[in-house]
Amino acid sequence: MTTEESTSERRTGGCLCGAVRYETAWPPLLTAVCHCRHCQRQAGSALSVIAAVPFAALERTGELTTYEDSSDAGRAVHRKFCGTCGSPVFTETPDSMAQGMIFIKAGTLDDPKDLAPAVHFWTSSAQDWVVIPAGVKKLDAQ
Ligand SMILES: [Zn+2]
Repeated sequence: MTTEESTSERRTGGCLCGAVRYETAWPPLLTAVCHCRHCQRQAGSALSVIAAVPFAALERTGELTTYEDSSDAGRAVHRKFCGTCGSPVFTETPDSMAQGMIFIKAGTLDDPKDLAPAVHFWTSSAQDWVVIPAGVKKLDAQ
């Protein structure tokens, strides 16, 4: 693969029903796991895996519904999901948008298998059975 090809790598994804689709530049700026209670509730799961990508490098189609959440620290968190199937697809915060960044809920990628989260947030509320790999950065909060 030439350098030109590797820098123009794209990755696609979408919600469960397919109404929302996206394509983004790849690799992400950061891949992380969030164990906060809000992510657990929204995902209906133990955690949420997020890939931060440049907003300008993201193309999206389909209707998203926004739930205006706020973080435990009281900051606005816009959780965007498919109103048909309910899949959480993106999260934006005023801070992330100021930095030109958006978070993809990485389980919605068409090919999420090779993700390697570099950091785990909110490990203080991680479920007891979750084992975080050694050598990965852990933060009690965000
Ligand atoms: Zn959907």
